Amino acid sequence: MARSLIWISDQRITGWACTHCGWNYELPPLLSDPEAKSAYDRLASGKFEKHDCAAHGPVTSPGDKGDFAARARKLVLRGFKPKDAVEIALQEIAFETRHDPKIVAKVQKDADEFLRRVKDGLI
Ligand SMILES: [Zn+2]
Repeated sequence: MARSLIWISDQRITGWACTHCGWNYELPPLLSDPEAKSAYDRLASGKFEKHDCAAHGPVTSPGDKGDFAARARKLVLRGFKPKDAVEIALQEIAFETRHDPKIVAKVQKDADEFLRRVKDGLI
């Protein structure tokens, strides 16, 4: 399967990462200007193309990438309906963790929680 560039956001890092290895390109915390952000995106994509997966080791602890709520919330902010955001986030995480049953089960619970909070108007 071809590697691809994914957006991650968890306790340790917010930025672009590779689906196949530990490579990532962190979003500078003070970057808020839209032009600077798009420059950062272009730079990340260039660096991604050039990086060698073998040199970066495996994806670091996939569990950390399973921060479901943060991911789903981001999708909602981008304009997705909560239900669709949940579906997309679930699929992304399942894919990134290579369908690790433990993580998928945990994320499924997070997804139910997330939708419950949306229904209750907490998100
Ligand atoms: Zn890679």
